[in-house]
Amino acid sequence: MAAQWLAGPQRPLTRFGEKPIFAEGLYRIAQDSYAWMVPNGSWGETNIGLLDCGGESVLIDTCWDLRFTSEMLKMMQPITGSAPITCVINTHADGDHCWGNQLFAQSTIIASKACVDHIHHTSPLAMTAMQHVGRLSRHLPIRTLSNFGHYMNEMLEPYDFRGIRVRPATETFEQQKLLNVKGVELLLMEVGPGHTDGDIIVYVPERRVAYTGDILFAGSTPVAWAGPVENIVRGLQKLMELDVDVFVPGHGPLATHAMVKQQIDYWDFLQENLHLACQRGIAPQHAVHELLLSSRFKDTPFAKWDSPERAISSAFTLYRHWGFELPALPGKLGILNVMRHQAGMAMCMPHAAPSAMHCRNQKLL
Ligand SMILES: [Zn+2]
Repeated sequence: MAAQWLAGPQRPLTRFGEKPIFAEGLYRIAQDSYAWMVPNGSWGETNIGLLDCGGESVLIDTCWDLRFTSEMLKMMQPITGSAPITCVINTHADGDHCWGNQLFAQSTIIASKACVDHIHHTSPLAMTAMQHVGRLSRHLPIRTLSNFGHYMNEMLEPYDFRGIRVRPATETFEQQKLLNVKGVELLLMEVGPGHTDGDIIVYVPERRVAYTGDILFAGSTPVAWAGPVENIVRGLQKLMELDVDVFVPGHGPLATHAMVKQQIDYWDFLQENLHLACQRGIAPQHAVHELLLSSRFKDTPFAKWDSPERAISSAFTLYRHWGFELPALPGKLGILNVMRHQAGMAMCMPHAAPSAMHCRNQKLL
């Protein structure tokens, strides 16, 4: 069954001012199975799942803020009016997959135990503060700080984190859980830690669909915040084995097995190239800089994916797991330092998407 677009906000541009590569909104992807798809799959442009199980619905993930979650729920009304959402599943603890949870006070929320343990790794207050820091520091005369400010400001500008109370799952599991909702079986499989600490994928055998969370970024540069990358690859291999017609990735268009395979190829490519640099003692940010600007990278299909600079975060994760001694910075400073390097990398790739994040002068031109 070909996916069918049902309803959406019909914006002419994406949240980052790009031309959409697919229409935003609700799609029917199989019998009584839906996906809320957000082009082009960049920061916070997260895909959500909806399964009508005959009088009751299951929602897979919520959006990064309350405004986007509410907008989506309104568009889902023709389905959820007769089959209300009684259960929400969080694929992992990144805010763009669970910060709309508070709108489901009456529903059961299910996630892996590791996801719940990790849910307060950042807060809506910290994100709002980051918006202010980004806005102010993009004008500083020190290039590394102004790049960072611009990058963070562009990333967070579409979102409003005020009023969000992070609501963790009410029910947790480890490894695997078979959920039966009015006779429809959903297989929840823990594949993390990888992208984050508690990643899961949701497989619905009788509908031949799988909702992958951020283990799969379709046609988009993935990122390993937690690692090890081996677990992400193992998760992708698990997806390859599933008997499904369509994958709903965490970000990007509806995906096929071929797009899953391409993600495995990306991780192989990144590890092969960075491992040698790591052994030679080259710092991760320098190794990624050299790699992404080389013809070796430009000749790959990954060079066309958005946000290539995310390889910086993944490189820091890979190096850590390879035992490389990285500068020990207290608390959140370590993450901010990685993002500072990532912002610098983004500015060296002005033709990458989303272009607003890669070109500081775009708004001044
Ligand atoms: Zn995400």
